[in-house]
Amino acid sequence: MTTKVLERAETILKNGYICDHCLGRQFGQLTKGTTNDSRGKAIRDIFAFAEDAGEETPIDKSNLAGYVFRNSKMKKEKQKKSCRICSNFFDNLDTISKKAVKKLSGFEYRSFVVGTKVAGSVVTNEEALWEEIGTEHCEPIKAEINRELGKLLEKQTGKKANFENPDITVLFDMGKGDVEIKPSQVWVYGLYQKLVRGIPQTKWPCRHCGGAGCKQCKNKGRMYATSVEEIIAKPMLKAAKASGSSMHGAGREDIDARCLGWRPFVMELEKPILRNIDLKKMEKQVNKDRRVKVRLVKFCDKDTARKIKAARLTKTYRIIVDFEKPVNREDLRKIIKIKSLVKQRTPSRVAHRRADLVRERRILGLTGSILSKRRAEFLIKTEAGMYVKELVTGDDGRTEPSFTGILGNKAKVKALDVVKIENIKV
Ligand SMILES: [Zn+2]
Ligand SMILES: [Zn+2]
Repeated sequence: MTTKVLERAETILKNGYICDHCLGRQFGQLTKGTTNDSRGKAIRDIFAFAEDAGEETPIDKSNLAGYVFRNSKMKKEKQKKSCRICSNFFDNLDTISKKAVKKLSGFEYRSFVVGTKVAGSVVTNEEALWEEIGTEHCEPIKAEINRELGKLLEKQTGKKANFENPDITVLFDMGKGDVEIKPSQVWVYGLYQKLVRGIPQTKWPCRHCGGAGCKQCKNKGRMYATSVEEIIAKPMLKAAKASGSSMHGAGREDIDARCLGWRPFVMELEKPILRNIDLKKMEKQVNKDRRVKVRLVKFCDKDTARKIKAARLTKTYRIIVDFEKPVNREDLRKIIKIKSLVKQRTPSRVAHRRADLVRERRILGLTGSILSKRRAEFLIKTEAGMYVKELVTGDDGRTEPSFTGILGNKAKVKALDVVKIENIKV
């Protein structure tokens, strides 16, 4: 019986020595519950039997090195040959795995995945073979290394391989023989309040030097001494021994505005060595800083961060407005009657970093009270994205209607607080 499988095997074995792994991998998609080196060994055995039975086969005899024959007078090869695809790479797998285990020590993780950068020469060898025999039933060497290394690591570390959402990626560079450990980010979902004015939500590099340090920023490389992000991240970075952080907030308040409503955010910790950080403890440490109050709700994932960032949340603001001329109750009534959509052209204060366009935002609720002759307080509930300051000032006609426009009385914001933020389920 000749079969296509045997014909292909014969073609593979014709040109020099190939190891069991590389031979078996060419049939890697046939039968389950076995390994490529078992597949390769099975095929090689057939040709060894043929040899011992005195049958002529065109294979390179180096492929039968190591067999003990009953009949064949084939010379026993003393030395094992080097595989023409992988140079017997798989013999080193255990050494590589142990190297990885050593590097993994100290990291906190429950699951891992292996990624391999296959050496260029091996890719070339594999592709040259595929030119000859095609790729039907084949598996690429990368997949075999990842899997076999993964199995060894599971055994040696007691952790689970996880392809979807691993805590750690073990990156193996075959050409360099290097193993690199890349911990996945830790994501924490929380809510914050900003109790003071004058700090931005996130790190703000100096706009003159971009963070390198210059005269304008007194070599600090930044526009503000701190940020909500840094205050919250500080104890977390320390606890997780992480290299850096990014905060993903559901919108942001102006630097000079307080945020007394709870704003949802996700904190991303980069390259954490430890992952099981105590959120309650972190929360307490952050809250010692009187400028920010935080609730660290739970660990989450990247999807939550994406969701939070994209969320369009309804907000309620409290604004103290100063008018150029005195205001009375009648004026207030006119203002709180604004029910129409507010048309806002991109405010002049942000025009340098945002596209110039006209947007419409809805006011969902508006009440007001007079505080003094020229000062009034308003509570305003709006759709996400309303430029509240411009609703007051009119921004030289770019926002319509506006407090200034309705009264013909120049209005400006004395103080602004976000007092309520509607949340989404995460
Ligand atoms: Zn090989
Ligand atoms: Zn600077």
